[in-house]
Amino acid sequence: MKPHNTLLASTGTTIFTVMSALAVQHGAVNLGQGFPDEDGPADVLRAAADALLDGRNQYPPMTGLPELRAAVAAANRRFWGIEVDPAAEVVVTSGATEAITACLMALLDPGDEVVLIEPLYDTYLPVVRMLGAVPKLVRLEPPRWELPRAELAAAFGPRTKAILMNTPQNPCSKVFTAAELAFIADLLQKHDAYAVCDEVYEHLTFDGWRHIPLMSLPGMRERCARIGSAGKTFSLTGWKVGYVTAPKALAQTIAKAHQLLTFTTPPNLQRAVAVGLAKDDAYFQGLADGLAAKRDRLAAGLAALGFGVLEAKGTYFVTTDFRPLGFAGDDVAFCRWLTETAKVTAIPVSAFYADPATAPRHYARFAFCKQDATLDEALSRLRAALAARGADAPRALTA
Ligand code: PMP
Ligand code: GLN
Repeated sequence: MKPHNTLLASTGTTIFTVMSALAVQHGAVNLGQGFPDEDGPADVLRAAADALLDGRNQYPPMTGLPELRAAVAAANRRFWGIEVDPAAEVVVTSGATEAITACLMALLDPGDEVVLIEPLYDTYLPVVRMLGAVPKLVRLEPPRWELPRAELAAAFGPRTKAILMNTPQNPCSKVFTAAELAFIADLLQKHDAYAVCDEVYEHLTFDGWRHIPLMSLPGMRERCARIGSAGKTFSLTGWKVGYVTAPKALAQTIAKAHQLLTFTTPPNLQRAVAVGLAKDDAYFQGLADGLAAKRDRLAAGLAALGFGVLEAKGTYFVTTDFRPLGFAGDDVAFCRWLTETAKVTAIPVSAFYADPATAPRHYARFAFCKQDATLDEALSRLRAALAARGADAPRALTA
């Protein structure tokens, strides 16, 4: 029989699914895939439940229910000072995942170049390649993950159509600074390029670090498609409600991509997300403060066990260097050992690179968006396994 699509046939199952399946198989505490182990806010859940039973279960408008589009526009103004026409500049999608693909579909022709920043989220590269566009990769270097400005500038050229960027950034928990964003804005203007801004962790920043949407910078209003996710903002990752804010003409093209991909997104969940976006400031601050406390708990515990713990300024994740533990194996071997023997699951950071062979191989990403008891259980399992480790540890250098 003739072969399937070459690109998809050669794409592996996502690392998040692989590691979650391994966690289930071994009864491990899953600090791999990023999802909270508590439900989101009760009023949002109640709004969704009510919305299921009040007879509005047919196709909603293609670009989203008016009340959610209005709520997204209001949130843009309230949090980031971005003025948006809810009727023409918001597109509701089935998760940020769909939004990312829809934005790339809307912008890219075959042969267009797209600047991407490693470490990167796992859907970016395959979608760019699927569209026949050419990725131009720029790499952030641990442990500080600073923007390498000269390399970024060199990645832009006459064929650059867009940059796809993620701030706060998964997995390295970097929050782009105003200066870094201004540098990017300058490049976009110089090269007449767009930005697809994956900002799903927009509300999850810590220690006084504040998210800045590129779209809020001078001259960027017309060049950016800004993506949010109810999954992250309301701790309901299974809901898959995303929203794109973009200038009118671009929003119309994004809506056409959405029309081909899913057409609409469940109306009940949209209505509940509109309720969520209208919650008071204390909710959003509480979400970030609660996660910061969880980060501190896990980071301190991992550091006490001997991990090198990198700074996490936002997101759900902390990156750790496991070399101080005395392991010489790579991150995939380490995460496998962790799951099978310590019964705690993490994600190998090399999965966030185009070419794992040249990626750093000694970092593991742990999700801290979990109940304290879950984090404590993971730490106590790690403590026991590290104390007992012997021949089964991957190429252990030290006892
Ligand atoms: N982008 C990033 C950086 C993410 O970490 C995630 C995590 N789920 C997504 C996009 C996808 O969001 P959603 O679940 O809304 O599709
Ligand atoms: N964003 C989540 C993470 O990075 C996973 C989402 C997924 O499983 N596709 O862990």
